[in-house]
Amino acid sequence: MARITQNKPTSYTLPISLQNVKIVMVDGLASRHEDECWGEFSDNQGVLTISLDSSLKGPALRGSLYHEVFHMVLYISGISFIMEEKMEEAIVRSLENLFLPIKDDVDKLLIKLEKVSSGK
Ligand SMILES: [Zn+2]
Repeated sequence: MARITQNKPTSYTLPISLQNVKIVMVDGLASRHEDECWGEFSDNQGVLTISLDSSLKGPALRGSLYHEVFHMVLYISGISFIMEEKMEEAIVRSLENLFLPIKDDVDKLLIKLEKVSSGK
């Protein structure tokens, strides 16, 4: 499991594969974009940015962070280089909207399956 280290109150480092991705929270990110934007992953800088906005919390913050992490994973794995941008966005959104809501249940199921397989 990746370990998150905090550099400053709004800057973090997330080790993934053989590199460290910087995660920063910035104010006013949404106003930089025409459409609603709570986060972005800059592949050329290796920086994942999340909006510092008091309305972005709970499930919305979780979804935004994971959305950008999924983009980051596709980029670092090289998969994003062999697909169109719209295809990548569709994959990321399917993971965010379909996988993420069941992630905790899958983790709980895994614990039960491990108990069954170990005979406990
Ligand atoms: Zn996206």
